[in-house]
Amino acid sequence: MTERLFLERSDLLEFDATVVARRQHEGRPAVVLDRTAFYAESGGQPWDTGTLGEAQVVAVVESGGEILHLLDRPLAVERVHGRVHAERRRDHLQQHHGQHLLSRAFVQVARAETIAFHLGSELTTIDLDRPVGDDEARAAERLANEVVWQARPVRISTISTEAARAERLEVPGGVAGAVRVVDVEGFDRQPCGGTHPRTTAEVGVVLITGLEKFKAGTRVAFVCGHRALTAFDRRRQVLEELVSTLSAPLEELTAVARKARLDLAEGERRARGLVERAIEGDARRLLEAARAETKAPGSPAVVVTALEGWAPGELRTLGSRIVELARAIALLGSRAEGKAHLVFAQSEGLPHDVPALLKASLEVLGGRGGGRGNLAQGGGDRLERLEEALALAESSVRAR
Ligand SMILES: [Zn+2]
Repeated sequence: MTERLFLERSDLLEFDATVVARRQHEGRPAVVLDRTAFYAESGGQPWDTGTLGEAQVVAVVESGGEILHLLDRPLAVERVHGRVHAERRRDHLQQHHGQHLLSRAFVQVARAETIAFHLGSELTTIDLDRPVGDDEARAAERLANEVVWQARPVRISTISTEAARAERLEVPGGVAGAVRVVDVEGFDRQPCGGTHPRTTAEVGVVLITGLEKFKAGTRVAFVCGHRALTAFDRRRQVLEELVSTLSAPLEELTAVARKARLDLAEGERRARGLVERAIEGDARRLLEAARAETKAPGSPAVVVTALEGWAPGELRTLGSRIVELARAIALLGSRAEGKAHLVFAQSEGLPHDVPALLKASLEVLGGRGGGRGNLAQGGGDRLERLEEALALAESSVRAR
């Protein structure tokens, strides 16, 4: 049974030990030591990394009642000097202890219990059993930070499971005999096997970075200590970029961004209005030109035109408008986005089979399309034959 040095002293990062067993674990050499300062993954806290003699410790796991130090190479010696990676340990300690404080703060502020804890390499979250709002989250954050800044002593003790139950501490399943308890003076007391600081001050700061609905409760993302500094720095960079992009001081950023969105919406509305007016103008101009060419007075106007760059939707609006304004047949074509488009339309009561006209013209373009009644549209790849396709439809119309 390995003596777990980290249980008593989470600041102990160097130690000497004897190799008591050698194993293979998931394809890697592993050793069991008589004593270790390496934390094995458990209770939501990831393992420590570091070195044992010449070997890198890449993972530390509990397996079959043993603490296995997984190594990047076999270790031949009996006595080893162990060195725990200090930054990683400090990071885990800050996030994990910060979690204890934040979870307690949520109980006090919002009667919300923590039902899950995840400490990732970037993101740390707790899941609360009931929904909490932004105000409650800010209040819990404030309370947790007050406790950090009061530098309250953190004490580790081991008590019997009976004593723990008598205190109404939630004893993790599978724990027999003794329970390790982490106590934050006058604030929080809970069973935990993780690494914790001597005082709450080592957590530095607790910063909630996001709330989201999760099952029946809320998932709270947060960062503590050095991670909080990194998170703040990332946000500061984004804000600086926005300040420069929008040419506005930080205090006016929200107002300026809102105005920019409104201006954009107004611009789009005006652009739509201008396009409608342009289409109306084109419809009238094309009708007038077609009427001027009509030899028999009183017969419907035949509008035939090949345009450049008109999208199919715009072409359809133009065709519909032409046949609304006068008794007319519109045979419209456009070359846009590498395709030839056709829209054929006629006024209510005119006798042509518009879908059949379109079908014949689309054969020229090698394309597809369709329609019903007085409106049909389609397109093909043979851009150079657009005029020919329109002329075919025009001759059919004029032949009637
Ligand atoms: Zn814990």
